[in-house]
Amino acid sequence: MRQKRAKAYRKLMSLYSMSFGFRQPYQVLVDSHMCKEATVHKIELVKQLGSVLQGTVKPLITQCSIQELYDQEKDHKFAVELAKTFERRRCNHRQPIPGDECLTSVVGDTNKHRYVIATQSPGLRQHLRAIPAVPIIHVNRSVTILEPVSDATLRAKALEEDKALHPTKPEAAKLTPTTSAATELPRKKKVPKGPNPLSMKKKKPKPEENVSAAKSEFPDPTAQVGEKRRWQDDDQEEGAMSTKEGSTHKRKRRRKHGGQSSSTGQDPVD
Ligand SMILES: [Zn+2]
Repeated sequence: MRQKRAKAYRKLMSLYSMSFGFRQPYQVLVDSHMCKEATVHKIELVKQLGSVLQGTVKPLITQCSIQELYDQEKDHKFAVELAKTFERRRCNHRQPIPGDECLTSVVGDTNKHRYVIATQSPGLRQHLRAIPAVPIIHVNRSVTILEPVSDATLRAKALEEDKALHPTKPEAAKLTPTTSAATELPRKKKVPKGPNPLSMKKKKPKPEENVSAAKSEFPDPTAQVGEKRRWQDDDQEEGAMSTKEGSTHKRKRRRKHGGQSSSTGQDPVD
């Protein structure tokens, strides 16, 4: 295959893969005419299919198509042999119908199973060009050819791309999370349960608590002694002797030593 053609086919197959999900091994439905053409012209069909599609291929033949060949087995023995090597595609036509009609029904309106069609029937090729995303292969003077992309395929591709750029309303809603619910929830203030503790009446203190409160009002005399001693120690260091006015003395001293003071404490006697 010439390099220019190879490049064109590679581009074609990448379009089918990217836009319509075609995957290797490519499923190629081969019709009875193609089987006859290949054997008459001694074409290695499976090899040619792989080279045109530039990947691995899985040739298939429908029940109706192989039946057509069986009917002409006397004249086309090798074609039958070739068709037998292909995987059978069940088309569920109880009474065999003409191959063209069978393939038309298998491809349907959308080619949802992503078949590549290899056919020598001009009528079938014409019909398949109207269905989007159907790669068509035929043989012309022993050269296997992949048809250029059809207008129907191009239109379907453009439609898909447009859909991707402009999503419909429900799709857009899926893409962008609902802002109202997401932002408003954290703002909601928590309402405390139960009555306001500030508006509640204070409980009357229990008798036990009264006792302890009384104790704190008149501290332990031993503690007072300890305090006294501490003051004494302080005063001794500083040379002051009065234990009675310990606290006043200290304040006074602090003021003297500390310089400025905003203390509102009791002024010592002058
Ligand atoms: Zn059929």
